[in-house]
Amino acid sequence: MKRKRKKLKELYSQYEKDVAEFKKSAVCVKGCADCCIDVGNIDITTLEGIIIHDRVATFEEPLKSEIKAMLAKNKMERENGRLSRCAFLKADKTCIIYDIRPFSCRRLYSVKKCDGASPTIHRQALNLANQTVKKIQQLDFNGYSGHISYILYLLDREEFRKLYLRGKFKPQKIADFGQSHGILINRSVPR
Ligand code: SF4
Repeated sequence: MKRKRKKLKELYSQYEKDVAEFKKSAVCVKGCADCCIDVGNIDITTLEGIIIHDRVATFEEPLKSEIKAMLAKNKMERENGRLSRCAFLKADKTCIIYDIRPFSCRRLYSVKKCDGASPTIHRQALNLANQTVKKIQQLDFNGYSGHISYILYLLDREEFRKLYLRGKFKPQKIADFGQSHGILINRSVPR
């Protein structure tokens, strides 16, 4: 896991280098959190999820319980086809896990104010981001991908977490949840 975490950081850094020129025209500023509200596609891998899970475990009460309650609410809303504010977005519209935010958040920027619409991103950056997603999934070869609330829900289950951390791969253990929640098996994603 240590090696994978290190490699994940390298992939994040490489992406930032690759899109640096494009991001120069981004209009995003701290406190603009359009992409964190009505969160639809904040999908993460289990590798990114375990890093977030470990961070949440270090939070003091009542913050830890508040985050867990928000994640449970996100999961329920998503299951009911509704979008919701990210559990990690603070009242001042900054991210409580900014330093370890998943790639879905890192890849987002916009060259136009979103004002409720989707971000406007360079096509080349979009392609580079899609390639990076595949590399992260490849790195997390015994893991899964899905909405942040679903992956963190799975990782909160001790049996699943221990199995994953031991490098084991038993998708049949989460087959029902996986199928009903659109969870992807990383090693099955076409390259
Ligand atoms: S993890 Fe942070 S950056 Fe990503 S959607 Fe949530 S609040 Fe926004």
